[in-house]
Amino acid sequence: MILDKILEKPMNEYPVMDTREGIVLFYPNIPAKAASNITEVLHSRWIGQGPKVDEFERRFELKFTYPNKCLAVGSGTDALHLAYLLADLQPDDEVIAPVFTCTATNIPFLYMGVNIVFADVDDNLNIDVKHVEQLITPKTKAIVCVHYGGLPCDMDELWALGKKHNLFIIEDAAHAVGAKYKGRYIGSESDFTMFSFQAIKHITTGDGGMLVVKDPTLVEKAKRLRWFGIDRTSKQKGIWENDIVEVGYKYQMTDIAASLGLAGLEEFDEHLAHRQRLYRLYCELLKDIPGIRVIGSEYTDREHAAWLLTAEVDHREDLMRHLREHGIESGQVHYRNDKYSIFGGRTPGQFPKMDAIEERYLVLPLHARVTEDDIRYIAYVLQKGW
Ligand SMILES: *Cc1c(COP(=O)(O)O)cnc(C)c1O
Repeated sequence: MILDKILEKPMNEYPVMDTREGIVLFYPNIPAKAASNITEVLHSRWIGQGPKVDEFERRFELKFTYPNKCLAVGSGTDALHLAYLLADLQPDDEVIAPVFTCTATNIPFLYMGVNIVFADVDDNLNIDVKHVEQLITPKTKAIVCVHYGGLPCDMDELWALGKKHNLFIIEDAAHAVGAKYKGRYIGSESDFTMFSFQAIKHITTGDGGMLVVKDPTLVEKAKRLRWFGIDRTSKQKGIWENDIVEVGYKYQMTDIAASLGLAGLEEFDEHLAHRQRLYRLYCELLKDIPGIRVIGSEYTDREHAAWLLTAEVDHREDLMRHLREHGIESGQVHYRNDKYSIFGGRTPGQFPKMDAIEERYLVLPLHARVTEDDIRYIAYVLQKGW
């Protein structure tokens, strides 16, 4: 590709998406039926957890996670907390978790007093399985992995470690709805998987999440923990037969949220295809530009859900300024978690790969409102140098 030919029409015919804001990093993906679905719920008898939540769980399960079971909750963080409780993690147990992720992956461990042992990143900002292996001790109970940006982790290797050392494998798939590993959807195999429907994720319910459980004997307990520790179905019979013997939470999804989720699910394939098309176009247009490498594009055995376009770049501050001057927003989105005091702060030299990429990763716009023309424009701006 000749870089000067990236633009297929004169520069001034590339309207930057919204002339006030420029090409922004994120924008919620609101499906066509969002308003009508919500209106229907508002006119019904159930607005809290009711039949729409059941329907959303069933449809999500059939599409992505079968035979594993789905439970809709108030956020992805709620789903992770429930997964950690169901894995019966105790104070003093150790979990191996990625140093680079949204803080939501790791904060629920602090609710429980579990010891977090961070693992370094690999070349694509996913958890480094070699490092994970070195960190396993007799106290280790679980490994959490995050499919960063939508790129599935090295699951075969993680599942093998889980089997060998009798550890739970928990997937934070907040970025990875629709991602596939060796032909199968993420969510269909590990002990626990979490999806997030927060405002800017592939599917949004405003805020919301899905807990996916493999062991069918844990499903009833999961439902009780979602709702104070009460068996909701027998309570709805209207008779007292519900002692509460375990402390639960108030983590359920509402029908208002689920109706939004159902609308998103209906359009999901189209939305994912749009994101994946943009991701591939970025790869194609940026591949010959010096000083920039798209992360996660080199695999053939897994399918990227294209939630984030992350690049490794030279002179990041200069590049961000250059993009800003051309109306293009960029940013880091997530930060290494050992930066935060709540996780005990940083020990220098522990994570050489994270150290090496810390000042070099950058997220570029990729969402429902970004067009192929926007990406041509971004590539043109990058190609001028920074
Ligand atoms: C969004 C996100 C979460 C948290 O989900 P919420 O629904 O906001 O609680 C967890 N992990 C990762 C990697 C995320 O991006």
